[in-house]
Amino acid sequence: MAGLGDVVKGTVQIAEAMSVTLKHLATKPVTVEYPDEPIAVFPRYRGRHMLRRYDNGLERCIGCALCEAACPTGAIYVDAAENDPENPHSPGERYARTYEVNFMRCVFCGDCEEACPVEAVVLTQAFPLPELERRSMIFVKEQLLEPPDGNITIRPAH
Ligand code: SF4
Ligand code: SF4
Repeated sequence: MAGLGDVVKGTVQIAEAMSVTLKHLATKPVTVEYPDEPIAVFPRYRGRHMLRRYDNGLERCIGCALCEAACPTGAIYVDAAENDPENPHSPGERYARTYEVNFMRCVFCGDCEEACPVEAVVLTQAFPLPELERRSMIFVKEQLLEPPDGNITIRPAH
């Protein structure tokens, strides 16, 4: 049979546990209802790539493949072709006929962004990349030219 000391001890323990629960009831949750609510990332977060265009709509990428050469994991594949002067894809003589990023290999180091002489490839803050099929993890040029639809806010750096 429990003595008075055990009852007091048990009551104190329950009070302590309830105080922790009540304290967290009053604080703002650290989780969010993703994807209904945006997730905050830090300003220097490196997420999925994007291929940029100039204001006139031309692709910045000139198919030089420096990003492919700089990539430490072989995640980028570029196949360049000559531009048709009547209907060019980019301002240069060449453009990327094929441009792929394999997100199963990418480690989001940003070396491709650093290597690009025309600031064509950039790492955005978008992170939603889950796909059910391996082939879907290889993003092709048409996907990369589209700005990502990330449900994201930028968290101030501390
Ligand atoms: S971020 Fe790094 S690993 Fe990913 S494609 Fe660019 S260079 Fe390769
Ligand atoms: S993204 Fe930049 S570095 Fe890569 S092929 Fe295009 S122009 Fe060259």
